Amino acid sequence: MPNASSTRLPVRIDRRGLMFVLSSPSGAGKTTISRALLEREPELVMSVSATTRPRRPGEVDGQDYFFVDPQNFNEMINRRELLEHAKVFGNYYGTPSRPVEQALAAGKDVLFDIDWQGTQQIAQNARDDLVSIFILPPSVAELERRLNRRASDPADVVAARMAKASEEISHWAEYDYIVLNDNLEASLAGISAILAAERLKRTRQTGLVDFVKRLRDGQ
Ligand code: 5GP
Repeated sequence: MPNASSTRLPVRIDRRGLMFVLSSPSGAGKTTISRALLEREPELVMSVSATTRPRRPGEVDGQDYFFVDPQNFNEMINRRELLEHAKVFGNYYGTPSRPVEQALAAGKDVLFDIDWQGTQQIAQNARDDLVSIFILPPSVAELERRLNRRASDPADVVAARMAKASEEISHWAEYDYIVLNDNLEASLAGISAILAAERLKRTRQTGLVDFVKRLRDGQ
């Protein structure tokens, strides 16, 4: 005889999505972590930023970034289309607001790969929706090794990023969670646990009032 759980539809409680920010110095493994998370988490979508930095080989416009010129970027700022924006390594980066708002309202979570400046702006404007994680590399030597492997960047860019890493790391205490990325699987397990717990926050489960009312009414 089939048990009750196999014959009824799954119960879903509506929820508002959250803004899941991952920041780190370049080379801490953030891109690898983001890709793996997106593969494993069907309810997580990536925010695609606009940037004035030149496209790297292999990058796809509209997928990795929206590559725009400085004038277009300024127009986006003036039309208030960006949730946050900042200058990083001499180029401008910003998050288009509309796709984020649509995803959150549909109960999807949005993953952001943005720096501490952008995270601060979101914290000021949308604290309740924000969950922020700072990823630390296990050591300077490992950070350097990972940066040197990224062959597409010229040596002076790599050197500048090493110098910036320490400055970026100085903002660690502004984040909700800190993940030391020594082992990829362990980091992913930790980050997935954070996501699971944050999704269960009472305030994010917007359908709870109705659901509990129906439970109590015996429906
Ligand atoms: P990259 O040029 O290597 O793709 O990114 C350089 C830095 O810019 C990274 O630290 C990344 O987190 C940050 N970044 C990328 N997109 C945005 C954005 O939309 N806003 C902000 N504030 N930072 C961004």
